[in-house]
Amino acid sequence: YNEKVKSVEVPDGYAGEGFFATKFDQVIGLARKNSIWPLPFATSCCGIEFMATMASTYDMARFGSERMAFTPRQCDLLMVMGTISKKMGPVLRQVYLQMAEPRWVVAVGACACSGGVFDTYSVLQGIDQVIPVDVYVPGCPPRPEAIIDGFMRVQELVGQESLRRRHTDKYKELLNSYGIE
Ligand code: SF4
Repeated sequence: YNEKVKSVEVPDGYAGEGFFATKFDQVIGLARKNSIWPLPFATSCCGIEFMATMASTYDMARFGSERMAFTPRQCDLLMVMGTISKKMGPVLRQVYLQMAEPRWVVAVGACACSGGVFDTYSVLQGIDQVIPVDVYVPGCPPRPEAIIDGFMRVQELVGQESLRRRHTDKYKELLNSYGIE
């Protein structure tokens, strides 16, 4: 009997993560992606578009994400909207650090992505200078449809997130490059 068992080829997935762990990843991913709680970090005009996005016409409740919070401790998704000055950079970073893993970041609008039209001494030329960004939404300002598109791309990432990825050396390297332990 033992000889027979040994000769059976074990497919990847069974041998690697194990059947239960693989399915468990998917169940957690499905639950997470449909219950993302955003933290709106809005500093200027792009924030107005976000208000429209959260109103009834666009209806974020269908994604399970109508529940915003203004405490980083209770949020999964940091949505940065607007011009971020260099003085604001450390504050943004502190907010990010106060969020629990797993956490995601979306840069909404040209200013958050790259500084936008404000190529000046006082403006951060993209929030990815201080924190890692998962999704960039271009536009000045991006319309609610574009913000929702960016949000759905975050949902894809969340749904595919392995329970283990955030503990990989690659992810730790990324955080270390931002001086985050
Ligand atoms: Fe305002 Fe345009 Fe900057 Fe958005 S990207 S905050 S609309 S200037």
